[in-house]
Amino acid sequence: MYCFAAGCRQTAQTYGNLCQRHAVHQRTHGHPEQRPVTAKELRPYRQAVRPIIARNRTTDALMITEERWTETLRRCGAYAETDGRTVFHRPTKQAAQALVKLGNEAAFDAVLETVAAMLLLQERDPRRFKSGRAFSVELARVVRRLGTLAIVSQWDQRAGRVRGVYRRFPLPASLALAELVTTAIGLAAKRIADTVQAEEARKVRLEGEYRASLEGIA
Ligand SMILES: [Zn+2]
Repeated sequence: MYCFAAGCRQTAQTYGNLCQRHAVHQRTHGHPEQRPVTAKELRPYRQAVRPIIARNRTTDALMITEERWTETLRRCGAYAETDGRTVFHRPTKQAAQALVKLGNEAAFDAVLETVAAMLLLQERDPRRFKSGRAFSVELARVVRRLGTLAIVSQWDQRAGRVRGVYRRFPLPASLALAELVTTAIGLAAKRIADTVQAEEARKVRLEGEYRASLEGIA
């Protein structure tokens, strides 16, 4: 059988419906065809949500959201310290450890901006994410990228130098991390993304109305 991924003519592995390359990609990205979101791609979306966050920064909504984030980090801190004597959920523990480190390195504003930018990207281009799971994995990746600890130095044989690469993070841990982040700040981030969309729609409508009014010049 051929690999199940769109356009792939490789033979699928014995167990499963994907070729080796796509199976690895699915394990890393949550979907065999999910293209990773780059920092460059996300930049304009960050820029679009930034002013909304700035002008609402001292509102109750964002103050309470920041408290929710702080509380999440506190709970993560407690969970990250569970030891072998206690039963724990490994992906949640890995996610909690990553968030504790991130909390020391990235400000709340940066996290909120990143999540809102991702939601805006998803709203503008719904097909950019192949599945809800793939969205969660990409969300976890871009959020983790806010901290330096997501990066490890690795010897690049071909380039003949040390290169910074993103530390591998297991898929279940990524899903747990995305869940923790969206539970804390997802609603506020979604509202911010929606506000950007509403403002743009309003601009387009006003422009249309103006153009229509020009027809009145006879
Ligand atoms: Zn394939």
